[in-house]
Amino acid sequence: MSNRTFTMLKPDAVGNNYIGPILAKMNEAGFRIVAMKYTRLTPERAGEFYSVHKERPFYKDLVNYMSSGPIVAAILEKDNAVEDFRKLIGATDPAKAEKGTIRNLFAKSIEANAVHGSDSDENAAIEGNFFFSAFERF
Ligand code: UDP
Ligand code: MG
Repeated sequence: MSNRTFTMLKPDAVGNNYIGPILAKMNEAGFRIVAMKYTRLTPERAGEFYSVHKERPFYKDLVNYMSSGPIVAAILEKDNAVEDFRKLIGATDPAKAEKGTIRNLFAKSIEANAVHGSDSDENAAIEGNFFFSAFERF
């Protein structure tokens, strides 16, 4: 089991000035920052990042949304990182996310749901590599 996961603070979180409060939640939950950058996805890069969803009805809107403004990308470290981080962020739909989770606190819709969290160790590695080269990780 890997002790790293990948996250993005999505355009709604950045636009609503929630970078600080969301990073505080991650910090309080025991995640250490291994790599971090404030950046923006082009539609092409957003489409590539979410290519597993390309046959889904929400894909086109998702790509537009994810390239609509700046994001924060980060690699985080903690024991059992992938599973514990998915618990910390809550369900994809904020209306169904458990109370106190990041999506419950900071997200308004199933699309603009504040944060991404990797769903497996394998995807955590792929997604971290999508944003960061080896020398950008600590
Ligand atoms: N999404 C959406 N509509 C849906 C399901 C998902 O817009 O009905 C978006 C949402 O931003 C979500 C992302 O697509 O975070 C990826 O979906 P996934 O099912 O992988 O959810 P996650 O792993 O982010 O909880
Ligand atoms: Mg997912």
